[in-house]
Amino acid sequence: MISARIKQAVRDVNDFPKPGIVFKDITPILKDPALCIEISKALADQLKGIEIDVVAGIESRGFLFGPSLAQLLNVPFVPVRKAGKLPYKTIQQSYDLEYGSAVIECHQDALLSGQRVLIHDDLLATGGTVVAASKLISQLEATVVAYSFIISLDFLNGRERLTPYTQKVFSLVSY
Ligand code: 5GP
Repeated sequence: MISARIKQAVRDVNDFPKPGIVFKDITPILKDPALCIEISKALADQLKGIEIDVVAGIESRGFLFGPSLAQLLNVPFVPVRKAGKLPYKTIQQSYDLEYGSAVIECHQDALLSGQRVLIHDDLLATGGTVVAASKLISQLEATVVAYSFIISLDFLNGRERLTPYTQKVFSLVSY
């Protein structure tokens, strides 16, 4: 089972980035090329039957599997980045963090009105990041049709925050 192999590879790092947090470190997955290919295929398999025009990946770990997922789905990949990283004209969306706030952005010509977008990131925690990405996508009059994660931390109830956009929330592994 792919979920068991992912769980075996993921490393828990205590007190990162702050005391009390147990961080799921996915970098050991990247040392196993066969597992990486299987993860990309499993992510694509979960989306069978959903019409997707674009994959939007969230900086930075959403860039690890987002492009290969987009290639398997045969659709473009759009990077959603932290403010100040993208070279061309951008649109922005701010969101609240535990302390302070952050801004994400994408190029203003990244999406066309009416396009059906899959949002991909490595991990769903509280959902704050992908809710902000969803609002960014709505600014360009595109529609979020599904979310795809490698890992979902279900005890943080992030899925509930995504249901106003779509019920189609997929992950390969849940904790
Ligand atoms: P959220 O906005 O859902 O609370 O947090 C998810 C975002 O933070 C994702 O972009 C994800 O990469 C990052 N993140 C939060 N906690 C973890 C973790 O334990 N492991 C990894 N790999 N990423 C995390």
